[in-house]
Amino acid sequence: MEKILIIEDEQSIRELIKLNLSVVGYETYEASDGEEGLKVLNSREVDLVILDLMLPKIEGYDLLPLILEKKVPVILLTAKDGIKDKVKGLNMGADDYITKPFDVLELLARIKAVLRRAGKEIKRKGFDDVEIYDEQRKVFKAGLEIELTPKEYDLLKILVDNKGIAMSRDKLLELVWDYDYEGNTRTVDVHVQRLRNKLKTDKIKTVYKVGYRLED
Ligand code: CA
Repeated sequence: MEKILIIEDEQSIRELIKLNLSVVGYETYEASDGEEGLKVLNSREVDLVILDLMLPKIEGYDLLPLILEKKVPVILLTAKDGIKDKVKGLNMGADDYITKPFDVLELLARIKAVLRRAGKEIKRKGFDDVEIYDEQRKVFKAGLEIELTPKEYDLLKILVDNKGIAMSRDKLLELVWDYDYEGNTRTVDVHVQRLRNKLKTDKIKTVYKVGYRLED
């Protein structure tokens, strides 16, 4: 998961950002002033910083060069009427800015774009709007986490890893439930049905007399 540091002294804004970033699968760090922000930067690996300009202890402008020095992209949070601030920040090397009060969806879109441009976006497995974070064994659909049982997860992962390939029920049984499993191929059908329902997808196709194939 990409790690995003939010440096913002207004608690309500910080928490709003944190909540929304967590929901779509980013890991977050928080800092309520410039000094604390610098501390996090010096002790953690961070993929992107959301930086408020008006900060106690160390101002956003003074912090900005220190962050950019670490090759970490920055999105500035600026006041509505601070056009000069935006220009100054961008000239200093900030990647983007967003004006308060902001739309959360716009912020998320900007974060995604900046991460992509900076080559910091982690390539996720998945299809359509379904994303798999294999390290955390988490699955998101349109940004919302979907609870899967361990077997459902394993089955989904195998289908995704073999996208476009028809997988026989026996093969899936063997890969997900092990060779010695005494169950029958009906188990596979039940789990596929549950995956289709939970993920609200029609991309897991039934391959007549064979098994299943995840469509690209
Ligand atoms: Ca502030």
